[in-house]
Amino acid sequence: MKKLMILAIGLFYVGSNVQAQHFPKPNCTTMLGEAMFAEVDTTKPRGVSDNYHTWENGKVLLVKFMPGGSKILRDKVMQNAKEWQKYANITLKFVPDTTKNTDIRIKLGKGLGHNSAVGTEAKFRSQTTQTMNFDTLYFADADYYIASLKRKGIQPPYNLNQLIAEMKADPNRWNNAELRRVVMHEVGHALGLLHEQSYPGAVNWKKTDSVYKYYKETQGWDKAKVDFNVFEVSNQFYTNGTSYDPKSIMHYSIQPWETTDGYSVNNNFELSAGDRAIIAALYPKNLKTSVHVVPKVDISNFGKLNVVTSTTRNGIVIQPTFDLKTNSKLGEVYFVARLADEDGYYIRTTNTYYNWGGTAAGYLKMNLLPNSKVSYNKGTKKNLEIFIPFDQIPDVNGKKVMVVFAVYLDDVANKQMDKLMYFSTTNPLSIIH
Ligand SMILES: [Zn+2]
Repeated sequence: MKKLMILAIGLFYVGSNVQAQHFPKPNCTTMLGEAMFAEVDTTKPRGVSDNYHTWENGKVLLVKFMPGGSKILRDKVMQNAKEWQKYANITLKFVPDTTKNTDIRIKLGKGLGHNSAVGTEAKFRSQTTQTMNFDTLYFADADYYIASLKRKGIQPPYNLNQLIAEMKADPNRWNNAELRRVVMHEVGHALGLLHEQSYPGAVNWKKTDSVYKYYKETQGWDKAKVDFNVFEVSNQFYTNGTSYDPKSIMHYSIQPWETTDGYSVNNNFELSAGDRAIIAALYPKNLKTSVHVVPKVDISNFGKLNVVTSTTRNGIVIQPTFDLKTNSKLGEVYFVARLADEDGYYIRTTNTYYNWGGTAAGYLKMNLLPNSKVSYNKGTKKNLEIFIPFDQIPDVNGKKVMVVFAVYLDDVANKQMDKLMYFSTTNPLSIIH
């Protein structure tokens, strides 16, 4: 058991090291693309859903692997991922690596951590970036490789290089139960499910320094990431009226010392009855749309985010190119173009106008009908532009800025506001006027 711990710490180290790169500047809470980088994570061996980011019912999701991962390992991931299909009206169609446009992209590798974009938030990532990571080191049968090292007379403690050498010499000794658990959990996120421990009131966390320190040491997570991955409490609306399910595959394992009342949860290795019920309700096989459907807009075929500095109009003209589709429910949609500096920090403003949550921005509120489709700026005639006058922009003359385009939705009927539907950003560009 002790040897396993040493090995585990080695593995965690690698995982956290690489993960940290997802957060270039983790201390700033106004980081550009905050939501985009807020991955849900299950690196720790451990039916709440985000209905605004579930896929359309009946959708065939195109899934591919990014370069890496043996055929044997890929087959195992595929097989376990498809477990959800038994209960959901969704198809995971695995396509060749060379396929250009896919919905989910899986990267198998060492030191990646396990994480996934939640549902349609995968669309915020470029086609050349993965939407799901699996750390294959965690899938290795550690007991087997330790026994092998022992047989060779090598004494503990063992380091990571020794383990990797063993794996290379004798591959495909996998911890199948762990692999299955993790794959089903991450694919659950990819279908829009959130962490079950975030069910409101479910867990009384001990938010002490020792708990933060534990996650820092084992995961490499800073306070913000612990708050997001571990302590986050979901909005009651997101429970879809289900009751708390400690058997959910979406639940972290919890140790008694992490809670104020000694509550604990063990790892779950199979989909619970609750998991099967919620996924069937979100993606019903016998109904056209889920009873839990909320207003959504689907942004696709996003092309260029054209930004023109106009001296004749004295401002910046922003013309995004995309197709938009609404669903059966009516929501209020905002197209927002915010300005950020070249390091990725939003440019603050105190202006009354051209201000989106304290950031220099232009925005449009759109009246869109349910079940409608619109193409913006696809033809020669431009039909969407966001304008920001120079005199409303804090001093950026001669500096490089980025334009961050986002689509937000207010679901007024359900009192759920500011749902991020799309996110895209330009490279830094100069604004000279
Ligand atoms: Zn997770």
